[in-house]
Amino acid sequence: MASLRAHRGNRPIQLIAISKTRPAADIAALAACGQRSFGENYLQEALAKIPAAERLAGRHLDWHFTGPIQSNKTAGIAKHFSWAHSVDRTRIAYRLSTQRPDDLPPLSICLQINVANEPGKSGCPATDAPALCAEIAKIPRLRLRGLMCIPEQGNSRSSFHALRLLFERIHQSGNIDNKDFDTLSMGMSDDFEIAIEEGATAVRIGAALFGPRNTRNANVAG
Ligand SMILES: *Cc1c(COP(=O)(O)O)cnc(C)c1O
Repeated sequence: MASLRAHRGNRPIQLIAISKTRPAADIAALAACGQRSFGENYLQEALAKIPAAERLAGRHLDWHFTGPIQSNKTAGIAKHFSWAHSVDRTRIAYRLSTQRPDDLPPLSICLQINVANEPGKSGCPATDAPALCAEIAKIPRLRLRGLMCIPEQGNSRSSFHALRLLFERIHQSGNIDNKDFDTLSMGMSDDFEIAIEEGATAVRIGAALFGPRNTRNANVAG
């Protein structure tokens, strides 16, 4: 933590408004309050809403992809998003790199970690993370920014703590550019305070900003 704390300094924690299942008008309303960063989980839904939300908001917004990434989604993510929080294998990183348009800045990447090795959960095992980070950090047109996790149910604090320790270990490894590696993306509506106590630099909040999700809309195919 000292290096993470020093790294964060007095910078505010980044608030990413998770707008999956929310209409473009709700996004524009939050943008009118000054919110700039929005997170989406389903590519098809996002591609339809991004132009509509930006038209209503009257300005460009910063889009973060936070859902599972299959190979057939990488082109759309590379073209329309500025961050991908949910990269968990190098094959996806290489595709994002080759598909990132030349006129855009590098795509910011977080490596998603399955911290508690839960079966069936997205994310790479923590033990693979140092090598994956070292490799992804060398890929052109990407900027490896840090780590992301969705905590184990009922065990948020220990998941967040484990992610922070892993982040510190990679920071100290000397294998990556520490200037760029500045992000711990962890904490959602129910546990963001714990995440911040454990060192989050970015929190991803949906329900606490927009109200409860309508579960009938919650699995819009991506
Ligand atoms: C849905 C989602 C969130 C936001 O969850 P809330 O409980 O609505 O705050 C954050 N991160 C990811 C990856 C999500 O899928």
